[in-house]
Amino acid sequence: MDFLDAILAWGARSPDRVAHTSAGSHLTYGALIGRAATLARWIDAAFPDDRRPIGVLGHREPQLLVAMLACALTNHPYVPIDDSTPAERVSRIAERAALAHTFSASDVDRLAPIGSPLPPRRERRSDDLYYLMFTSGSTGEPKGVQITRGCLATFLDWMNREQALKGEAETVLNQANFSFDLSVMDVYLSLVNGGTLVSATREHVANPRALFELFRTTPLTTWVSTPTFAAMCLAERTFGETMLPALRRMLFCGEVLPHAVASALLERFPATEIWNTYGPTEATVATTSVRVTRALLAAHDPLPVGVAMPGTRVEVVDDAGRAVADGERGEVMICGPNVSPGYVGRDDLTRAAFSAVDGQHAYRTGDWGRYRDGLLFCEGRMDSQIKLHGYRIELGEIEMQLRRCDGVRDAAVVVQSRDGSAYALVGVVVWASSDSVDDRQQAEELRVELARHLPGYMVPRHVRSVAQLPMTPNGKVDRRALADSLTRPR
Ligand code: AMP
Repeated sequence: MDFLDAILAWGARSPDRVAHTSAGSHLTYGALIGRAATLARWIDAAFPDDRRPIGVLGHREPQLLVAMLACALTNHPYVPIDDSTPAERVSRIAERAALAHTFSASDVDRLAPIGSPLPPRRERRSDDLYYLMFTSGSTGEPKGVQITRGCLATFLDWMNREQALKGEAETVLNQANFSFDLSVMDVYLSLVNGGTLVSATREHVANPRALFELFRTTPLTTWVSTPTFAAMCLAERTFGETMLPALRRMLFCGEVLPHAVASALLERFPATEIWNTYGPTEATVATTSVRVTRALLAAHDPLPVGVAMPGTRVEVVDDAGRAVADGERGEVMICGPNVSPGYVGRDDLTRAAFSAVDGQHAYRTGDWGRYRDGLLFCEGRMDSQIKLHGYRIELGEIEMQLRRCDGVRDAAVVVQSRDGSAYALVGVVVWASSDSVDDRQQAEELRVELARHLPGYMVPRHVRSVAQLPMTPNGKVDRRALADSLTRPR
């Protein structure tokens, strides 16, 4: 069954079942679908014969799910935007995606306070754009990854088969913002199965006591999060099977799942399946997976990211795009019906990373990889894209913004790491003038200026100045030398 029909069917079958809960609010399947139908009628009246994308701005509120579903019903792709995004970046996204409109949670309350019958079913094609997800871009501008209905259907079919969720008996954790593609895993796996999605709020994340209280009082069966989030939870001694006795599976994606984290999770949750999944936003959330068992932990450190989902090809290729031999290192390339057709309005970037192989979209990930024993291993990035606390960041985008700031001649951003994990960004600038400057005050002003353009997680924690940036022999900024020089006492 088409995944949208599967979601809609729950409205008829179990209208009183809770589809989403967050901070004490409960949205039933009946209300979700009825209100989405009301909003869909409003969209049809306001934008007849128009298929432009629609922004959905907020932070994991139930109304955002209503808006996403209304867009799906009217064949408008939606663009989730977190409300912590600076206004200037929201405008750039709106412009780049050519948004017809943007809904906030309060717009949804105003325009669709109650439900109505579903509008007539539209024709649905697998190449219809379904959502656009914006991620950091090294050219200084966020990139809008276009995901089609077919991409999402492919991903969901695979996950449903592999994970065999138990329908209405599922209660699924939503940790990621709706503007990150990890959330697609929990939102859609829950909704198509008639599960209850439980969103952790900002307060939960900021206040561990509230978070663990949520866990103690919620019968979670499926956990979806970044490994960083699970590692943070492990710091609480009582985080384990007594706290979450119904937990059947933990699904991880988005960054390296450290061996130590997976191993500690298996200790604390002996009856729970732990899965490592891998994939970029450009290939719809995840493309490979592996169940992390005790045997896998004993055999591999670092852990593999598994095998490709059926119907897709995940190859390790050389510069010319030819598959390398088993055991050799190369770039991970993904080819299949889950791969995006490219970046909205950026044919140049699309051409650089995407191609067509045997009639399917193919994407060169920029990840170093290697096959061993039939399993794919990720071995870091070929470029300066990083993951910090689970967030995908192009250092080049921050550098571009730093260079646009008054008084800055040149800039680089380096990552501070501890035990192999990134924990903070440091901006390094070369001032345009060497006049006596109050370095500390100027640095703070730069951070304030950056926060006007970049999401908080991309604003460097510290800004330092140097007389000159060190260069590699081929004329690129030597970030490693820079990072080393910053760790030496000044
Ligand atoms: P995103 O588009 O935010 O999902 O980020 C995709 C990138 O995150 C990939 O290209 C990898 O560099 C990294 N990534 C995602 N999942 C994993 C994983 N399980 N292990 C290692 N790296 C991962």
